[in-house]
Amino acid sequence: MARVHNFSAGPAALPLPVLEEIQQELVDYRGCGMSVLEMSHRSQAYAQIIDDAEATLRRIIGIPDTYRVLFLQGGATLQFAGIPLNLMRRGRAGYVVSGHFAKLAWQEAARYGDARMLATSEDTGFDRIPDLSRIREQARDLDYVYICQNNTIFGTMFHALPDTGDTPLVADVSSCFLSMPLDIERYGLVYAGAQKNAGPAGVTVVIVREDLIGEGPALECCPTYMSYRRQADAKSMMNTPNTFGIYVCGKVFRWVEQQGGLKAMAQTNSEKARILYDVLDASEVFRPFAEPASRSIANVTFRCATPELDAAFIEGARGRGIEGVKAHRLTGGMRASIYNAVSLDGVKALAAYMQDFEESRR
Ligand code: PMP
Repeated sequence: MARVHNFSAGPAALPLPVLEEIQQELVDYRGCGMSVLEMSHRSQAYAQIIDDAEATLRRIIGIPDTYRVLFLQGGATLQFAGIPLNLMRRGRAGYVVSGHFAKLAWQEAARYGDARMLATSEDTGFDRIPDLSRIREQARDLDYVYICQNNTIFGTMFHALPDTGDTPLVADVSSCFLSMPLDIERYGLVYAGAQKNAGPAGVTVVIVREDLIGEGPALECCPTYMSYRRQADAKSMMNTPNTFGIYVCGKVFRWVEQQGGLKAMAQTNSEKARILYDVLDASEVFRPFAEPASRSIANVTFRCATPELDAAFIEGARGRGIEGVKAHRLTGGMRASIYNAVSLDGVKALAAYMQDFEESRR
């Protein structure tokens, strides 16, 4: 078996023990005589799978009963609409535009109400988290303040949450979900596309404070599927959910728990990030993309002096069993996504390759 070091931004590496367990259970799930792929979502066996996934997630994050956990479809992108449709009760919300996906979310929200851009770092190419010192004052009388906590493409992250006073904070945590502890009571809602740290593509986890979803969505035009109220009441089974995806997520949650939980994840991820940033800071060939104070522990972005050198680096990586380091077209260059399932050894292998590449260019 030849598994590569996979630094893809998502879909991304999954823990090997999870894949092996799925393989083992695939044809006959625990004596059911069928696979989870073939099983009714209304069956007893499946009820146990989804209940266990939610319970494990509640344990590892520490989610109180005042929050609901939803397993939805449509990717993180559908929540760009779902959030204003459900939460814009007074018709106005604030957005921190710190990257591509935050900008898309802001533009989508503007279709449903007054979506105000409170701060942006677009003028510096999204290389940092913008200054948020005025947020508390700006947040007054808004339905929510929206952030994208980790900007997957640019490799920046919020190292402190903005103080929004009584206004609920809503966060897209897609690329830092389960990478580190999540103080859920600081938020009104968080959501994450699963395909980075939590499982396969096709599942979006939404965690929302029950009082915010009230009797139903803020806007009449909200599609029935997108009503957080309806989805919460139906325990994410208003229609057929992504049964297999949720099953895989449940296994990843258990794996995270067995590894020591979110604190342990954060420790290893910080160590992995430090190894790569140390190489970048000492380098004369590579240039880190993100401002030091805004650096992500999940996506490390960098480039060489020329696109030709970037291409040579990416091409050479293959021969070392390193995949997925080509960055998004918006930044160019390289990106190493070092999610939970990317091992410390994998990161060391990348760091060694970077150093060898540097030597060869001197
Ligand atoms: N938000 C963030 C932070 C992302 O990284 C991504 C995708 N990589 C999205 C939103 C969009 O996710 P999806 O493709 O699941 O709609």
